[in-house]
Amino acid sequence: MFSVLFILILPKPVKGLNYPFITEFMKIKGLIILGMFFISELEAQKRESITLSQEDIEEIEATTTELYRDLNRVTPGKKGAPPSDAIILFDGSSLDQWQKPFFDYSESMTDYAERLPLLKEGAHITRPADWKLEGGDLVVVPGTGHLVTKELFGDVQLHIEWLTPKDISKRGQDYSNSGLFFMGLYEIQILNSFDNETYSNGQAGAIYKQHIPLVNATKPPGNWQEFDIIFNSPKFSESGDILNPARITVFHNGVLIQNNVYLTGPTCYIGQAYYVKHPEKLPILLQNHGNPVRFRNIWARKL
Ligand code: MG
Repeated sequence: MFSVLFILILPKPVKGLNYPFITEFMKIKGLIILGMFFISELEAQKRESITLSQEDIEEIEATTTELYRDLNRVTPGKKGAPPSDAIILFDGSSLDQWQKPFFDYSESMTDYAERLPLLKEGAHITRPADWKLEGGDLVVVPGTGHLVTKELFGDVQLHIEWLTPKDISKRGQDYSNSGLFFMGLYEIQILNSFDNETYSNGQAGAIYKQHIPLVNATKPPGNWQEFDIIFNSPKFSESGDILNPARITVFHNGVLIQNNVYLTGPTCYIGQAYYVKHPEKLPILLQNHGNPVRFRNIWARKL
């Protein structure tokens, strides 16, 4: 293409050479090539615009291994911004998508075994969210309790940005602890894990007490960090047997830290987890662990 244009814009024969017919010939040749190029482009566009009839598709699918499906078109967001089909859970403007929990996680399975069977399906309206909105960030207010989404989720893709403030007086699990609980039950730990010793299955990005992150992709405290998560909810039989355990994939600052791991049950601080049947959809919970952790740009896509 560029060579053709080059030929076309040649102003005159090269100095010292006096073969004008060669230049003319090259110009004509260039025009022919350019013409052919445009014709082939038009034909390509014409080919692309042809849509197959339903009959054609059925025949192709019946006789080959090719599949034709109308996929929803999604426009990706730029640099962590929500894609076109995301549910915006927090964009810095309000806490409208959040409220106080109607239930939350437990320390041990004894408590879960009593409470989870009592959980009712569907949305629950509770009290308004009471964390701080500060400079477009959502900030944990110690002593106020957890927050949950009003929207209920089962399988979901989630993006969340969080910041653990620098506080050199803090150590271990007390250093900017929060957490992201899918269904209010299954925690991915949020913590300062940059030069802050604690148990590995309780550091940032751990599926708390169940799966250690593959690597430590943490930034120093005071920096914004990202989780991109795929959560597949557990599936139960009518009688309450677990059919498919919950699975989680987590990217921390773009680095894979949990690779489709199976959960053994809801998050327990004490003892071993096991499954107890609960509703198919429940809210996402942000943990108030008494530290002023900050959040921004939270969005989800139901799967
Ligand atoms: Mg936590």
